Amino acid sequence: MAVVKADAFGHGAVPVAKAAVAAGATWLGVCRVDEALALRSAGLSVPILAWLDDMAAVAPAAASAEVHLSVSSLAELEAVARQRLAVRVHLKLDTGMHRAGCPVDRWVELVARAARAERLGAIRVVGVWSHLSHASSPADPHNRRQVEAFQAGLALAEAAGLRPEVRHLCGTAGAVGVPEARLDLVRIGAGLVGIDEVGAGLRPALTLRTRVLQVRRVVAGDGVGYDHAGRVKRTTTVALLPLGYADGIPRCARSAWVSWHGHRLPLLGRVSMDQVVVDAGDLPVRPGDEVVVLGRSAGAPRVEDWARWAETIPHEIYTGLGPRVVRAHTGTGGAQ
Ligand SMILES: *Cc1c(COP(=O)(O)O)cnc(C)c1O
Repeated sequence: MAVVKADAFGHGAVPVAKAAVAAGATWLGVCRVDEALALRSAGLSVPILAWLDDMAAVAPAAASAEVHLSVSSLAELEAVARQRLAVRVHLKLDTGMHRAGCPVDRWVELVARAARAERLGAIRVVGVWSHLSHASSPADPHNRRQVEAFQAGLALAEAAGLRPEVRHLCGTAGAVGVPEARLDLVRIGAGLVGIDEVGAGLRPALTLRTRVLQVRRVVAGDGVGYDHAGRVKRTTTVALLPLGYADGIPRCARSAWVSWHGHRLPLLGRVSMDQVVVDAGDLPVRPGDEVVVLGRSAGAPRVEDWARWAETIPHEIYTGLGPRVVRAHTGTGGAQ
């Protein structure tokens, strides 16, 4: 299952979904039903699971677009089943992450009611699923406990008369590091765009480039930007880049730099909403020159560098890329 929620982690949901399906993905996963409907409008026809939404409100749209809904509680189940739309449902068990899912002590009742609703034709139970909390530490005993809790939950679902077609438990890290949790489907999000949490040798899919708009010389002691927060110690060339925090450059990333032909140009002063200034020293940087802000070209900052500068994770850097950043997709999926 290619997980393309949040605009495929900022990479563009439709092109990423199309590339994933062309490469063999048989399911798509999103958070909200609106995200699923956008994929349907773009012509994607594989099964899509949406896992977090106001399920009562979205059930009609989900039924007509054949979007599968996750159900975690009796209230959600009743709200969907009551509409008698034969919505496809994946029952989610909380096997220990304690974020979403049906608590273990309510599971027997949930699967019994789901089985009854299915016999009445009100819903179709297609899947049973859960999520691992410690998958990025494969040896952590939580993983084994969650697999066992999931198997026990599956046995109860079957005893209630349910025959789910798909059982699924892990995202990228679990798919790589916890083989016994792979089951029928793995839900690959981070891995799809090359976020490598588990040393699997994944390559980033995205490179963020921009062009220098203006350059100027400033002399030793001059300040740059709001409050003159960037103060230069020597005469230097400073270059203006048209990317700011509205475009996903974290305002807190004070030690960041960008790459001009492999040379590091440090950020100078505050990140503005629409722009940043970088220190080019005495390099012959000119308006129109390309600068690599993030990506896998040689000498460029990696997403992990930005994540460190901003004290966050690559996922937040990618999903923070704003709507003004033009996404251009190459056809090969970067197979180089
Ligand atoms: C985001 C998400 C995934 C994808 O996980 P990755 O670690 O990004 O591969 C899978 N399952 C659920 C429930 C998610 O929310």
